[in-house]
Amino acid sequence: QMEEFANFDFNVWRKRYIEWISHLKSRILDVFRSIDRDQDGRVSRKEFIDYVLASFPTNSLEMNAVANIFDLNNDGFIDYYEFVSALHPSRDPYRKALDADQINEEVSRQVSQCNCPKRFQVEQISANRYRFGDSQQLRMVRILRSTLMVRVGGGWTALDEFLVKNDPCR
Ligand SMILES: [Zn+2]
Repeated sequence: QMEEFANFDFNVWRKRYIEWISHLKSRILDVFRSIDRDQDGRVSRKEFIDYVLASFPTNSLEMNAVANIFDLNNDGFIDYYEFVSALHPSRDPYRKALDADQINEEVSRQVSQCNCPKRFQVEQISANRYRFGDSQQLRMVRILRSTLMVRVGGGWTALDEFLVKNDPCR
């Protein structure tokens, strides 16, 4: 194990895991839901590690490293946003497919950087409509030149600027 681990590459692991999910004809959300038995939107590191070890070819050395990467804010829990954003390659700026998955990926990636004791909430209502924070308002989102934009008033604001104004920890 030690010897194999020396060559551990998270990107390779991530691709294997995504392939495994797609062979099951599952979505990332479905996998997260099966780990998150009480459906509270987050799982402990141990739950995450135990579940993946029992269902996917990997080992505990790898899983410790993987859990460190998934637990972005290092609070000992992996929530849905962290789960999605660790699994998606996303950061490739050249990918321009304007689909709901890409929007969801980018929203999750940005929201996962929240450090509030109670994480800033975001809810996907439809492909391009989201609810942010405590507000009941539905907001349209779209990707414009690889920047995720949120409809605010009569115009569009970049999601990161929107979060600076609305997420208390920023
Ligand atoms: Zn926050």
